[in-house]
Amino acid sequence: MTTRIVIIGGGPAGHSAATYGARLGAEIVLIERDVLGGAAHLWDCIPSKAMIATGGALSFLSRSEGMGLDKVTPHIDLDGVRERLSGIEAKLTSSTNRVLASQNVRIIDGTGSILGPHLVRATTPDGGEEDFEADYIVLCTGSRPRLPDWADVDGERILSTRDAYPPKELPEHIVVVGSGVTGVEFVHMFRSFGSEVTLLVSRQQVLPAKDAEVAAALEDDFLRRGVNLMKGARSVGIDRTERGVIVHAEDGRHAEGSHALLAIGSVPNSEMLGLENVGIETDGGYVPVDHHCRSSVPHIYAAGDLSGRLPLSSVASMQGRKIAEHAMGMHDLPHRHLDYDKAASAIFTEPEIADVGLAEADAFAEGRKIRVTKVPFSVSAKALINDDPRGFVKIVSDPATGVILGGSIVGRHAAELISILALAVNAGLTVNDIVESLFVHPTLSEVLAEAAE
Ligand SMILES: Cc1cc2nc3c(=O)[nH]c(=O)nc-3n(C[C@H](O)[C@H](O)[C@H](O)COP(=O)(O)OP(=O)(O)OC[C@H]3O[C@@H](n4cnc5c(N)ncnc54)[C@H](O)[C@@H]3O)c2cc1C
Repeated sequence: MTTRIVIIGGGPAGHSAATYGARLGAEIVLIERDVLGGAAHLWDCIPSKAMIATGGALSFLSRSEGMGLDKVTPHIDLDGVRERLSGIEAKLTSSTNRVLASQNVRIIDGTGSILGPHLVRATTPDGGEEDFEADYIVLCTGSRPRLPDWADVDGERILSTRDAYPPKELPEHIVVVGSGVTGVEFVHMFRSFGSEVTLLVSRQQVLPAKDAEVAAALEDDFLRRGVNLMKGARSVGIDRTERGVIVHAEDGRHAEGSHALLAIGSVPNSEMLGLENVGIETDGGYVPVDHHCRSSVPHIYAAGDLSGRLPLSSVASMQGRKIAEHAMGMHDLPHRHLDYDKAASAIFTEPEIADVGLAEADAFAEGRKIRVTKVPFSVSAKALINDDPRGFVKIVSDPATGVILGGSIVGRHAAELISILALAVNAGLTVNDIVESLFVHPTLSEVLAEAAE
């Protein structure tokens, strides 16, 4: 009998579970209440990176003299940016639809909830209901921005991350609350667009979870570009004023601007999913999963942000694939569990920041012996050709075996370059494997080979 899998949520996790499940022969129903591609396409990864790319083009053109060109003075056109974002989203949604349709995935436009251990209900926008029986259920409902009770987000002056793609008007002075990955990307983006930017950092370092040297490189860049950093400032309130907003910090300081943007994390979309109907355990609204992404009810899986693991689109997609393989019995064969510690991640600031695997600071904290090598991009011919010698490559390896354990890259195209180290970390390659590889000259990748020496 054909295996029936019902998936709730069509973001990267749901899309990937559906595609691989169908490829492996399952009958798939995918219930999505909004747009296929999920928050990733509509609100998060894609629009943010598209706007950052526009900001990058703007700052590159503004520095055109460094490339031997006459000075160019470009200006941001928010309507043009809006059009560009909808164009990208439409293309991605249509290709996602095409892929799923070609695999005979049944797509239901509606809100899904669990009625019983093997029964899922879809409620369509017109109030219609359809029930589906399932051998396996996959929950991929994602997350949404966390909105604190001390700020009244109005989408005009006080913005959540979802109000900023792009905002109705270009902020004259935006106060960003939250200095994690999302917060610093917005700082970078609005600064490239020409807004004045103040960043409230609740601790003493932006990107508190990152390598101190990497965070320092970003702080230096922010300061050089005139971003106001307010450190040790934990936000406790935002008032709207006649001219804009005032963000209050716990210690009595405040920051005034035309707009405020909150980037303080996310909360899972797990309400109204019917988890209680089957007794699925939750933790703060997230659905904890084992190494096969099974919830506490073994034939019900959870993936993506809802699973409370690394909130990355790449991780969500991989979890979706692993679930499809497990449900279709493929994990009885030798296979690799998803190792969250080996996921590469990037921050699309300028310079870009990317890392993978073991961080130097964590190795020291664990008292682990490591070898750290670091080479700046300023030694690279390609960096000079690009007129951008900022940043460095750092490789963490095992001093006894040379096995690459991790690495960080700060600099142009870091998010692309980290793939070499991600492959090395995931495949257990050694520094010598990189040294012996013939990379193209002149490229930035050559700096990785130098750092591996
Ligand atoms: C500003 C920002 C930028 C980001 N940039 C990156 C990046 O550059 N790279 C990266 O890897 N990650 C990035 N992320 C993280 C990434 O967006 C998420 O990790 C990813 O979207 C998670 O995928 P998902 O499938 O779990 O959920 P989502 O993409 O959130 O999709 C969930 C889907 O489920 C649907 N849904 C919810 N409830 C129901 C229901 N009951 N019935 C039917 N449908 C339902 C929703 O409509 C949605 O379409 C970013 C996040 C933010 C906030």
